[in-house]
Amino acid sequence: MPVDPQLLEILVCPACKADLEPVSMPPETCAMLVERYREKFRDETPRVEDGLRCSTCRRVYPIVSDIPVMLVDEALPAEG
Ligand SMILES: [Zn+2]
Repeated sequence: MPVDPQLLEILVCPACKADLEPVSMPPETCAMLVERYREKFRDETPRVEDGLRCSTCRRVYPIVSDIPVMLVDEALPAEG
């Protein structure tokens, strides 16, 4: 499911306050994140398909069951 455009408009990178763009994440990354967040979702398996990438620092903030996780500590480091 695409990110709500209105939500995307107000979200910024917590590290550098730059704009974010939606990105899809590779299946192995999604699988890793599902395991990371599983214990926080007691009755369901978290759904992880997309993330939000900072246009400046390139960190990727995962979207877990439609909730963007806007925490620097839980962001994926910039690729490459
Ligand atoms: Zn950033």
